[in-house]
Amino acid sequence: MKKSLKLLLLAASVALLASPASAKTIRWRMALSWPSTLTPLASPPMEVAKLVKEMSKGKFIIRVEGAEKTKSALGVLDMVKSGSYQMGHTGSYYYIGKDPNTVWFTTIPWGMTTAEQYAWFYYGNGMKYMKKVYDKFGVYSYPGGNTGVQMGGWFRKEIKTVDDLKGLKMRIPGFAGKVMAKLGVNVVNIPGGELYTSLDRGTIDALEWVGPAMDIKMGFYKVAPYYYTGWHEPASEMSFFVNQKAFNKLPKKYQVMLITAMKAASADMYIENFAKSVDAWQKMIKEYPGIKVKTFPIPVLKAMKKATDEIMQEYASKNPLFKEIWTDYQSYLKKARTWTMMSEYYYLKASKEVGAGE
Ligand code: CA
Repeated sequence: MKKSLKLLLLAASVALLASPASAKTIRWRMALSWPSTLTPLASPPMEVAKLVKEMSKGKFIIRVEGAEKTKSALGVLDMVKSGSYQMGHTGSYYYIGKDPNTVWFTTIPWGMTTAEQYAWFYYGNGMKYMKKVYDKFGVYSYPGGNTGVQMGGWFRKEIKTVDDLKGLKMRIPGFAGKVMAKLGVNVVNIPGGELYTSLDRGTIDALEWVGPAMDIKMGFYKVAPYYYTGWHEPASEMSFFVNQKAFNKLPKKYQVMLITAMKAASADMYIENFAKSVDAWQKMIKEYPGIKVKTFPIPVLKAMKKATDEIMQEYASKNPLFKEIWTDYQSYLKKARTWTMMSEYYYLKASKEVGAGE
């Protein structure tokens, strides 16, 4: 009797373990727009895979595949849309050719800072518009980590006037490239692996990349001494894409795990990039004390702003949703900037006056 009861209990527990809900392991793949070793950009997808695996006790596995494997850095949206990959980690503005409204979820020249943009995403209308823009691709989009203010780029010669930009050969992609082209810059597209040699040999006069944390690996500081401060990518946000059908099929608890992991990993990337920039800059300036940090002269900055406004106007006149988001973005930026100035800006200004942090 005793023995059969034991057997009964054993059978019951085996049945429980073998029930479909507890036995099934979910396996996803995530495609990246960058090599899987290119931190900090590749950090959020790695972190998401790790967190989801731990939280699900190994029942939800996401295999991360970098651009070295997929061979299609800019094909991430299509791969997630088709469902060949359930997830992607990329930059929204790479898909400007499919829809100009994708730019709002990365950054725009003269746009919001990281804090302002996260406020707009989560407490303004940003996420609402993100969903609207990506619904037509059958994709859910989520913020995927921020670089903070990107530097204006490395220049072999100093830029003193707007005329100095005319005929200048520069690698500067996307929206900022359109602005520079309007100012007479000869915008060129060169693969990342050839940039250092092109700059060293003078095939190009200037280029922009990201900021110290990522620029240091490229070595640009060894061949172009002028490092300009930013204007064109004040808060570049990466994006996670999730195939809607795949997400909707996930058990609710895995949906919550995934969303929580994406948010935590995104916040981490901003911190990692900040910390690495702090150290990378110290290393660069120690190794090459001749690097000159410059801000473009005011007439040059004003010309960049004017060209930006003209391009935004062109898009807005052709695309009603672009106009709607631009209006919303500008009105949020205006009120958010008032607070940024009252808090961060005047604190930094006051600190500088008294020598705090020097
Ligand atoms: Ca950049």
